[in-house]
Amino acid sequence: MAWKLTRDGATVHVLPGNGGIPNSHPEISATDFPAIQSFCEANDVKLIVVGPEAPLAAGVTDYFAGSDIRVFGPSRAGATLESSKVWSKDFMRRHGVATAMSWQYRSDKLDEARAKAVELDGQVVVKYDGLAAGKGVYVCSSVEEAHAALDELAALHTGWFSFLLEEKLTGPEISIIGVTDGNRVRLLAPSQDHKQLLAGDQGPNTGGMGAYCPVPFADDNVLAAIRTSIVDPTLLGLQNEQFDFKGFLYFGIMLTPQGPKLLEYNVRLGDPEAEVLLPSMESSLLELIEATLDGTLAQTTVWQRPGYYVGVVLASGGYPAAQFPTGFPISGLDQLHPSILAFHGATRQHDGELVTSGGRVMVLVGHGNELEEAVNHVYREAERVKFKDVYIRTDIGQRPEPTLAGNW
Ligand code: AMP
Repeated sequence: MAWKLTRDGATVHVLPGNGGIPNSHPEISATDFPAIQSFCEANDVKLIVVGPEAPLAAGVTDYFAGSDIRVFGPSRAGATLESSKVWSKDFMRRHGVATAMSWQYRSDKLDEARAKAVELDGQVVVKYDGLAAGKGVYVCSSVEEAHAALDELAALHTGWFSFLLEEKLTGPEISIIGVTDGNRVRLLAPSQDHKQLLAGDQGPNTGGMGAYCPVPFADDNVLAAIRTSIVDPTLLGLQNEQFDFKGFLYFGIMLTPQGPKLLEYNVRLGDPEAEVLLPSMESSLLELIEATLDGTLAQTTVWQRPGYYVGVVLASGGYPAAQFPTGFPISGLDQLHPSILAFHGATRQHDGELVTSGGRVMVLVGHGNELEEAVNHVYREAERVKFKDVYIRTDIGQRPEPTLAGNW
């Protein structure tokens, strides 16, 4: 976002930022609102564009409401669409948004949930009702797995909590991300994330190992079905419930034989989807954001660049385990072909040297007229960037094209 907004003509500061983004301020946390306010006042900052979910769920938009500092991102109430899976499922149900059947439980009703999992032959998804940094969802294929997931939930969370049991859906997944003012939406290109650590969608879930856009099989028919069964009912819901929702809205969708179904909302740009979506956007993100806040979104159009964008994550060896070593020097960035974009994630400067500082270290993005060309280009270039134990998933953007069966 910092890269795109800078290209659009803005002067950008990033709190806390990282080792690669100019104007990073690692000393300021994104949830320390008084510190952010002082920073904005001292630097004449008039617009805050929120990246991650934590400051939104903590109410950054509400904190600055009524001041002359504008915030692009939903209020705390709007952020509940992401921060509570139970609440967001109820919202979908109230407004007729196509989604999986589900059953809600409190932690004192684990036995009922276990019985339900038996009734559904273990073909269920268990979802913890809160922000869990990608670790609250268990996709199960047997009663044993479902019961083990319920046991793990109970062991991880003390005190009472809520969770959902969902029918397990099948089909390819797609991410649709838009900018909304709560009344209308401007959609960016359809994209696909690769959440599992290993090729072939195997291994543990991660924050995302790569993404690409646009998605060849998301043709006009697919997009029209998504619009009528998911996007439009959501907007009507936001209007009916009078949400102050000005920000990114992300629809995580599965294309099932029964039509598109919504798996989840996020109230922000996805990562690593953002790294491919923003380079593919020809028009100005800054103007789109300002139009949203000014109430003139109706007069905007989003223009896409032709071709495909593929983003590959360079991760630290050991990620996504709870602990793995970091602090390794990163080299080779100066050898990259000039058409490759290198977006930093978990990097920091240490004694004048760029080093790794977390799991997903950076995303390299390549472009091509065809998807395969973009894939080959970015993988060739990724070999040039080196740090100890670097891990790259090998099949980003290479899923076989699905046949979308079923009567939609
Ligand atoms: P969520 O955070 O709700 O999007 O879930 C994370 C991942 O779990 C999704 O990207 C899907 O791969 C999978 N998932 C979630 N809900 C379902 C479902 N009802 N059926 C099958 N897979 C699901």
